[in-house]
Amino acid sequence: MKNNKTGLVFFPAFDWAISPTHPEREERLLYTRDQIFEEGVLDLPEIEEYAPRLATIHDIARVHFCVPRVQSQVTEAHLIAAGSATLLADAIVHGELKNGFALVRPPGHHAMRVVHGNRGFCNINNEAILVEYLRRHHGIKRIAIVDSDVHHGDGTQDIFYHDPDVLFISFHQDGRTIYPGTGFPNELGGPGAYARTINIPLPPGLGDETFHYVVDNLILPILEDFKPEFIINSAGQDNHFTDPLGSMRFTARGYAEFTRKLNPHLAVLEGGYAIETALPYVNLAILLALAGHDYFYVREPEWPGTMPENPERVARVQRVVEQLRNVWENRDRVDLDKIFGTGTFFQRRKHIYYDTDYIEEEQLERVRRCPNCPGYITIDSRADHGYGHPNRVFCVSIPFTACGACQTEAYDAYEQARGLAQYQFVYLQDKSTDTFLAFDRDKGQEWVSEGPKVGE
Ligand SMILES: [Zn+2]
Ligand SMILES: [Zn+2]
Repeated sequence: MKNNKTGLVFFPAFDWAISPTHPEREERLLYTRDQIFEEGVLDLPEIEEYAPRLATIHDIARVHFCVPRVQSQVTEAHLIAAGSATLLADAIVHGELKNGFALVRPPGHHAMRVVHGNRGFCNINNEAILVEYLRRHHGIKRIAIVDSDVHHGDGTQDIFYHDPDVLFISFHQDGRTIYPGTGFPNELGGPGAYARTINIPLPPGLGDETFHYVVDNLILPILEDFKPEFIINSAGQDNHFTDPLGSMRFTARGYAEFTRKLNPHLAVLEGGYAIETALPYVNLAILLALAGHDYFYVREPEWPGTMPENPERVARVQRVVEQLRNVWENRDRVDLDKIFGTGTFFQRRKHIYYDTDYIEEEQLERVRRCPNCPGYITIDSRADHGYGHPNRVFCVSIPFTACGACQTEAYDAYEQARGLAQYQFVYLQDKSTDTFLAFDRDKGQEWVSEGPKVGE
């Protein structure tokens, strides 16, 4: 019989912070902890608490190119946050749990494929690490990530932009009014994964009613079509009406109803900075919703009552929903050459700013348009730390389901870049064989990391 329990890992990382006054700081989950204990939630037979676990360096190398190495970008807290998500996923896949909540920090959804430092409070992407882990260790192919943070999940989007088997849906406050300034409806994925990225920007000030209009009319129908084997919720809570960074008006109950409708296998905490007025209530409500419990009594003390929505802004959201439903329904009929050109490679130039570490990165990303697989990716990345010499690195990524031709070409690209003096580090990430290579030019040394065999 399938177990009916909800797993919880609570890892508040009380000893880790960017700086003492930073919004993503140690106390973030302090009141949440009190709330969960006071409500006696952990005594409910449907909820089982798990001790956290560390992710491995290899779990991270399967996703990220950390410069210069994984160990230089992560602390133990990062490994625990990522490892807690994979731990709960193991228990879900093995049938010990029906679902889970990784109530952990630091967050991850702004961490992109290449990591030169911390951006948007994130170093490594917990959900992306989980996706690659699920594919490698459990053979799960189709995965959906729904991001409910007020900020666009630009890191997650970046990592899966060319991946047809991962559906990424993000709704967030309009990027023209908030960090990181992206996440518009025309960002739809690359030529091999068109419409596998869906962005719904929301005008500031909207509340639960519009939130659920988007869920009911766009997100749930798309998920029904896509039929993911595993659903991950990037459970950011900064859409809450008391959040100091966001300007939306969602409530704890709105979040709980969203959780009930989405029915994710795993919710992973992202942002949320109203540590006293939002997080304890939203986290409790999400946990109760996951466990199939009544959450109607969870109400914030500051709850202002139902507010009328601005009709002009609501209409704007309705138009975006209609536009994106159209894109989704016609995704297999569009002329991709018209959108992406006819070249063997599709390329994009990216300028990436690391707001926490003040790094400016310039990237040239190229993906091979392959008829037989998602195509390998190369990234030429130059990061300016504001002092001395910028870092320049070259990265090659081979997809999980790579064809032989892409694999051969990708290894050639890696060898070729090793011969070019401008790159201080050259990386190869072969997801198809779970092998990771890193070449350090100054040391003249290559590091090889091979993952455990499947089933171990
Ligand atoms: Zn956020
Ligand atoms: Zn190929």
